[in-house]
Amino acid sequence: MYHPDIIGENGPELGGRWANPQSCPALVLNADYTPLSYYPLSLWNWQDAIKAAFLERVDIIAEYDREIRSPRLSMRLPSVVALRQYVKPSAWPAFTRFNLFLRDRFACQYCGSHDDLTFDHVIPRSQGGRTSWQNVATACAPCNLRKGGRTPAQAHMPLHQTPFQPTSRQLQEHGRAFPPHHCHKTWLDYLYWDVELEV
Ligand SMILES: [Zn+2]
Repeated sequence: MYHPDIIGENGPELGGRWANPQSCPALVLNADYTPLSYYPLSLWNWQDAIKAAFLERVDIIAEYDREIRSPRLSMRLPSVVALRQYVKPSAWPAFTRFNLFLRDRFACQYCGSHDDLTFDHVIPRSQGGRTSWQNVATACAPCNLRKGGRTPAQAHMPLHQTPFQPTSRQLQEHGRAFPPHHCHKTWLDYLYWDVELEV
C-alpha cells in the first residue's frame, strides 16, 4: 500500500518515474507545513511550482536531484513547496460526489463494499427525501438496487452511520487514510502517516 519500492534509498531519481521533469510534481504545503489537501494530495506540476517560487508566493522546502537548465539559470526542481500566506480552509466543504465518497471512506454504507459505488437517497426521493449531506449515502450498486424506493427501515437495511454534513477537518482526516500511490521520499516528513509510524 505504501509502495516502499519507490521511496527507498535507490530513489526514483535514478531513473524511471521521476527522471522526466514532467513527472516531478511538488507537494504543496500550507504555511503551517501541513498539506493543503491529503486526498487528493495537493500537487503542482514543476512549472507551476517554479513560477510560484519566482513570484515569492511559496518557499522551496525540498528539491529533486533533477535539474532544469536554461541559458540563464539552472535549478533543481522543487519537490516540496510551502505557501507563504496561510490559506484558511473553508469550514464546510462543498457537497460534491468526491467529498461525499470521502466522508463515507469510499465504502457502501450498507454492506461496506468498496466496489461499484453509487449514491443512495436514504429517504427516497419518491417519499420526499432531499439531495443533501443528511440524506445521501454512499451505496454499492447491488445494495442500491436491493433497497429500491424504500427507507432503510422499510428495507431492513441499517446504515453504518447516519449521513451528516462533514467539516473540512473531518474530510482531511478521512483523506489521510488514502496514501498516494507515488510518494517522493522528501514528502514523507509532511504527510504524517500515523498508522505507519506507529507500527
Ligand atoms: Zn453495499
